[in-house]
Amino acid sequence: MAPSLPPDPVTVQVTFSAADFAVIREQARASGVTVEKYIRQFAVEQAHEDERLASKIPPPLPWPRRMVLVPPPVTGESFTSWMDAVARENLCGRNALLMEFWKVRRSPSSNTHLLAAALSEDDIARISAATGLPAEGITALLIRRYTDGIPALPTDGEWYEQARSFIMDYFFNANHSRWCPQCIEDNGGRWPLRWKLAWSYACPDHKVFLNVVCPDCRESQDSRNWPPDMRLWCPGQSRGGEGRRGGKRCGYPLAESTPQPVTDSRLIEVQRWINYGFGEGDRPGDGRNPRGLFVFPALVDLILRLRTPAMFGDADPVIAQATGDESRSYSMFTGLVSYRDQADPLIVAGAIYLADRLMTAKDRRAESDWFAALAREGQEARSRWDSEPLYVPPGIGQLVYPFVYEALLRQQVIRDSP
Ligand SMILES: [Zn+2]
Ligand SMILES: [Zn+2]
Repeated sequence: MAPSLPPDPVTVQVTFSAADFAVIREQARASGVTVEKYIRQFAVEQAHEDERLASKIPPPLPWPRRMVLVPPPVTGESFTSWMDAVARENLCGRNALLMEFWKVRRSPSSNTHLLAAALSEDDIARISAATGLPAEGITALLIRRYTDGIPALPTDGEWYEQARSFIMDYFFNANHSRWCPQCIEDNGGRWPLRWKLAWSYACPDHKVFLNVVCPDCRESQDSRNWPPDMRLWCPGQSRGGEGRRGGKRCGYPLAESTPQPVTDSRLIEVQRWINYGFGEGDRPGDGRNPRGLFVFPALVDLILRLRTPAMFGDADPVIAQATGDESRSYSMFTGLVSYRDQADPLIVAGAIYLADRLMTAKDRRAESDWFAALAREGQEARSRWDSEPLYVPPGIGQLVYPFVYEALLRQQVIRDSP
């Protein structure tokens, strides 16, 4: 098809920089044509190229029709959990929901996290039109709700930005979700978004630690493009003939997996504050506000790296046991930021317990010295090449609680310049 150029002859005024014009003149001379002819040829080629690109863009999808059966999201629910609820109600799979009902272009192989992260403004407008849920209501189900703003963070611009990106880089579990068995039993398999945050270690309503892998097949949950009716049963592959359904889906009832009770009430209190700090739930009525966790998020990360069993002697027995268990597999998750210690709710709970203790102790200096001395011992006990001081980059150093930072420097557990 002929490119849609203005009819010939036409007068077009074009401005070139002196440098560009020198290049054009040079190329025109090399091609043996006049500068005017060279520019005209270039314009025709450009028009062909635009035409070619335009023909590659697929035609727009039709606008979706309003669905009849749309269960509203429950408070704090994740996008994929709500999507599955809508699919279940309409007896269809995820891809049918996305492509046939919502008219959103999606690759069927997308994992659930990528799928939710990749939704464009146009996609959200389509989902809104199909479901009747306002666009803001849909955005609130997406992880960008946290990346866009964490209410508990200091308002100081630079600090805010650093702390926010540190939390999202280190403590957001991109490829799986934890769960409280009692919660999904009570609400029929609806999964809150906050269960994807590494700082969600307990359910304050049921006072239990969250689960992270299926007790039968050890698969993580809410990870892949699984059928929407697998929100109450493990969709993992059962191993060989030993599994519950011999080689098929594991099918373990997730609501029946036994959680471990939280006996330290401070851990529940801190979890309530963390949820509130992320903008969820009511402000806890009493107790100390552990906002320092948000202000100094790198402290939790440092504790994860430097911990020794001796630091958790007074902790909740479940945590003391988990942190003392050297054989515990911390590397069961791979992926951008869902890895190792951060993936284990008991280990993170231990680090948060200790961070809270260091920041709220009566004698914070003495407490920090105690921690640094144990960290030094631990470092020396490890292999030779692991006992070098840990390098803390300058921007990160200010995200560590100052008393602890200074104590660790004094003990040469960390160093702050290369
Ligand atoms: Zn619960
Ligand atoms: Zn399983």
